[in-house]
Amino acid sequence: MLDLADAMIESAVGVTPVPLGVADGFLIDGETVAVPLAVEEPSILAAATFGARILSEEHGILTWFTYPVMTAQVFVEGNSDRVAAAIEHGDEQIRDCLAEPLASITARGGGLRRISTQRMADPPCVKVCIDVDVRDAMGANLLNTAAEIAGRRISEIAGAPVAMAILTNSACARRAGAEFDIDVSSLARTADGETPGADVARRICLASDIAHADSDRAVTHNKGIMNGISGLALATGNDTRAIEAAAHAWAAREGRYTALSTFTTDGERLRGSLELPLPFATVGGAVGMHPASRYALAILGNPTAARLARIAAAVGLVQNFAALNALVTAGIQQGHMRLHAERIAFTAGARDSEIRKVAAALAQTGAFDVETARAVLADIRSRR
Ligand code: NAD
Repeated sequence: MLDLADAMIESAVGVTPVPLGVADGFLIDGETVAVPLAVEEPSILAAATFGARILSEEHGILTWFTYPVMTAQVFVEGNSDRVAAAIEHGDEQIRDCLAEPLASITARGGGLRRISTQRMADPPCVKVCIDVDVRDAMGANLLNTAAEIAGRRISEIAGAPVAMAILTNSACARRAGAEFDIDVSSLARTADGETPGADVARRICLASDIAHADSDRAVTHNKGIMNGISGLALATGNDTRAIEAAAHAWAAREGRYTALSTFTTDGERLRGSLELPLPFATVGGAVGMHPASRYALAILGNPTAARLARIAAAVGLVQNFAALNALVTAGIQQGHMRLHAERIAFTAGARDSEIRKVAAALAQTGAFDVETARAVLADIRSRR
């Protein structure tokens, strides 16, 4: 394992294991899917499974995907008509110099899609955007290489220095979305004294409206969505930072940070929808190189990158739906602390079957602390 870590990063001293769980019961585009999630936080798997089960009682989640297009940016110093015009007239030369670095992706059906220029006033620059279809890769190395080669040619053409040449992680052309609608009656709660489904649906929509209106609330709302998406990204060896950066940039695309998902009711139906950039890969980087990533992709039936992004959108929406459902009814802590109790039990020294017993005792008393757990554990052991 250390050999692998050493091949993946520099100065490796070990590996950090993160639990890998499987949330099953997802019905995505009519297909049953078991979703691997690598997460250190309790309740994410339970929430995903809970939400997926409710939605699969009807037609599950429907998803869509745009194109696996990523954009490289070349910033040329200066904002003059001459520089901008030279770059526009040099379009053919820029395309020619990109043929070689993009040859392998072009052979796979991807490749260069568009070159566009935009003048920036402050700081004075001309921005050249190079859009590339990267197929099943994330495309960062591919685009960075292409951007640097193009940057050198652009500098010659423009007769001006290039400030930098690199991909943008905004990935806003590479979006996926998910949606569902269910009868509100399936949301009825009996555990907390018969809350009618229509009332739960109304409260979920109110929570969604609040997240759209209040940026601080939107941050936590979106964190709940990313609980599922980042868990899937980590499980499959994808670049979690890139996916998270793209998601939060999309949430702030109109100049104010807001919720990524929306919930509405239409008569007796609750409708949920989510849209965001999802630059998931199924080849390249650590994807498919790391044995855990290969295992996770195998659980998913070795999907294409487009399919993986669609699954990610579904998981994000279900995670969000389950969190809102708990939040507006029993509250988020009831289920969370029950699961957290197992960690406290472990920290207190409980092992194997003791963990469940100590956790159950903590849940019963409502005292979720290590001291109480130690006392309960000592009591259990004294009775043996
Ligand atoms: P990569 O360099 O491994 O290239 C992908 C490879 O997969 C290419 O050689 C391509 O030819 C091959 N390939 C095989 N089958 C393919 C298919 N069906 N579709 C597409 N390509 C196929 O990976 P990458 O995607 O260019 O870059 C991703 C890596 O770069 C990640 O590890 C990421 O963390 C890292 N990175 C990210 C940033 C950033 O996000 N800003 C910057 C630098 C590096």
